[in-house]
Amino acid sequence: MSTISSSTEQDVVAKVPKGLFIGGEWRDATGGATLPVEDPSTGDSLCEVADATPEDATAALDAACAVQAEWAATPPRERGEILRRAYEAVVARAEELALLMTLEMGKPVAESRAEVLYAADFLRWFSEEAVRIEGRWATAPNGGMRMLTMRQPVGPCLLITPWNFPLAMGTRKIGPAVAAGCTMVVKPAKQTPLSMLALAQILDEVGLPDGVLNVFTSRSASKTTGPLIDDPRLRKLSFTGSTEVGRQLMRQASENLLRVSMELGGNAPFVVFEDADVDAAVEGAMVAKMRNVGEACTAANRFHVHASVADAFTQKLAERMGGLQLGRGSEDGVTVGPLIDDDQRGKVRDLVEDAMAKGARCVVGGPERIPGVPGYFFPPTVLADVPTDARLLAEEIFGPVAPIATFETEDDAIVAANRTEFGLVAYVYTRDLDRAIRVIERLETGMVGLNQGLVSNAAAPFGGVKQSGFGREGGVEGIDEYLSIKYAAIRAE
Ligand code: ADP
Repeated sequence: MSTISSSTEQDVVAKVPKGLFIGGEWRDATGGATLPVEDPSTGDSLCEVADATPEDATAALDAACAVQAEWAATPPRERGEILRRAYEAVVARAEELALLMTLEMGKPVAESRAEVLYAADFLRWFSEEAVRIEGRWATAPNGGMRMLTMRQPVGPCLLITPWNFPLAMGTRKIGPAVAAGCTMVVKPAKQTPLSMLALAQILDEVGLPDGVLNVFTSRSASKTTGPLIDDPRLRKLSFTGSTEVGRQLMRQASENLLRVSMELGGNAPFVVFEDADVDAAVEGAMVAKMRNVGEACTAANRFHVHASVADAFTQKLAERMGGLQLGRGSEDGVTVGPLIDDDQRGKVRDLVEDAMAKGARCVVGGPERIPGVPGYFFPPTVLADVPTDARLLAEEIFGPVAPIATFETEDDAIVAANRTEFGLVAYVYTRDLDRAIRVIERLETGMVGLNQGLVSNAAAPFGGVKQSGFGREGGVEGIDEYLSIKYAAIRAE
């Protein structure tokens, strides 16, 4: 039974502006080119959006630069209140935004709704932070002068966002940038531009001045963002996406010594100790693994389970995974949507086949195609006895696959958990407080979930170490990414 009628679906898509948002105006791409947006659950085209040229991208930066000085001088309360109104508007439109997100990204509507509210929370959080940009006043140790320290907006920013969380990855950059007094150019992923275009429309409606936020969509990310990164007027690049592209962007950004924030790939270990509550661990595993169909940089990528509880954990997890309902995200009862595209599905399938060829045992799911189903579905899969040389223990899976390996000692668990170039998040299940503290301190990650399968929260500093990048989004730290420190030495007799 379809919960949402196709005419409702068409309506929410029709309402979204499809052009480039530059200087407060919606316009077509130069030359009028467009690019299709696909529904990954059917492979059908939903609509076309503007396909910006490099000149259009530069026009977006022109618009941002034109109002930077004026925007930086806006009273903080005014910036905060714009964000607050945006928060309220997003919450008021949560249902239609959730459906829109499901259509372009595939996740079930309930998950999209959760993302919309999570995304809105960044607007609320940074509306509160806008008025708390503080400095310091001190007397120099020798008494000869006073030292005034202030924080000022970095300047025009380029914000590049991925397709997996089309709205939240935007608001956690846009929120602090607006609060700090920066202007910006946003480039969403070409697979999921509609959520960002809808957000731009909302920010415009709630009174964000023209030119503060500019959005362009494009078939070619590098051709359009390249000239902006090379442009000396740009002062900051914030990127969420793959480590590979992040490295490339950092190399480019070094030319102009841009301030850079990088939220890159992850390979989260999920460690279950012998003293854990196994049912709670399975519950947490379902969230850490299956949120967003596993297409999250925070997704549990590998499960390290103490040998004494591995069978119980594996069996319970397989039961839960096997009971999930695949389908179009807008249909009733669906708990797992498709992957974003055929490429992604192919990558997940290769990783599962590699693990099985090396001896992993498939407990549920598997790499076979689901016959007669359009869209890019991959079944929730649990693999046991996964050998250490399986590629999916080292690489980011970005799909609904849970590989389970066992360990015997706490030291072994920590060594296994840290055996990765990534360092975004780790999940730990134990009821022993001493052990929990020891393990948290030894994990090489930016975040840890203790007896908890979800760490994301607008009030928390989200970010990684090692090849997962640097910079923090959210929390009191999040706004610092958009502020520069200035110090004035003041003569005092
Ligand atoms: P994913 O693997 O999640 O698709 P990507 O790193 O490929 O991650 O994409 C994340 C974002 O980065 C998207 O908006 C994409 O268009 C953009 N992107 C990809 N390649 C480049 C590039 N060479 N230069 C600038 N942006 C890029």
